[in-house]
Amino acid sequence: MKPPTQDSTAESINHGGRMAGKTVIISGGARGMGAAYADQIVQEGGRVIIGDILLEQGRELAEYLGPAARFVRLDVTKEDHWHEAVASASKYFGPLTGLVNNAGILVHERLDMTTPDQWQRTIDVNQKGVFLGMRAAAAAMRASGGGSIVNISSTAGIVGFTDCFSYVASKWAVRGMTKAAALELAGDGIRVNSVHPGDTMTDMIAGDIASSGAVTTHDQIPLGRYAAPLEIAQLVLFLLSDESSYISGAEHIIDGAVTAGTSLS
Ligand code: NAD
Repeated sequence: MKPPTQDSTAESINHGGRMAGKTVIISGGARGMGAAYADQIVQEGGRVIIGDILLEQGRELAEYLGPAARFVRLDVTKEDHWHEAVASASKYFGPLTGLVNNAGILVHERLDMTTPDQWQRTIDVNQKGVFLGMRAAAAAMRASGGGSIVNISSTAGIVGFTDCFSYVASKWAVRGMTKAAALELAGDGIRVNSVHPGDTMTDMIAGDIASSGAVTTHDQIPLGRYAAPLEIAQLVLFLLSDESSYISGAEHIIDGAVTAGTSLS
């Protein structure tokens, strides 16, 4: 299966080995933005462990990307799966240098309609999954002499949105955990940052449009369109690479100016 970065836009990007020597785990990497990150890491000379619960799609993607990519079964809510993913990284590629905590789910319910089960599932995947991922990867990165962790939050981790109460809660938690981890792991040479994309055209958003229609419309976005996965991937690659060697504990908003304020015109 082709990742969403393999389109005509991707051809204009100059690939130059920015990820040479890096080994990165991507959770939720079988499709969507995670697949775009995997593709770009390989294009830039790095190696990638794609972890997901979508077994067939993940295996097909790894096969498409070639020997620098491997797929592992990874349910981010399960601690033993994380240990297996970290072990696979060192078994196939060597010391772990990067982690993208990308797996996420979006439950479309407002506060008064969110059930405790929906709440718990969202927190388990979006928040506990990031905690378990950082904990497992940090131990391996410490042994590797350092690394970079990128936690995928959302604009829903910067401001509030209606109709996705548990998602907003989980994405604010990711932003806070990122800062606490950045402080605790700095002494080990591990940088931790959060990325906050606005609406980006993936299956998650396509599903939303089909089921509820509750997404930002183009005229609510100052730049006038959704992001492409490749645009988010460029930021994530920068944060994984040594080009961002002094950046840690920071939140990186990439949303076409949606959260910049209110336009009066
Ligand atoms: P997507 O639904 O296409 O991909 C999410 C991936 O996570 C899927 O491959 C899915 O199988 C995987 N996943 C779900 N539960 C999992 C689990 N328990 N263990 C392992 N993997 C699991 O969505 P996407 O748009 O590519 O989203 C990727 C990330 O970006 C998510 O964290 C999402 O919240 C965030 N995000 C997306 C947008 C957007 O507009 N698409 C905006 C802001 C933030």
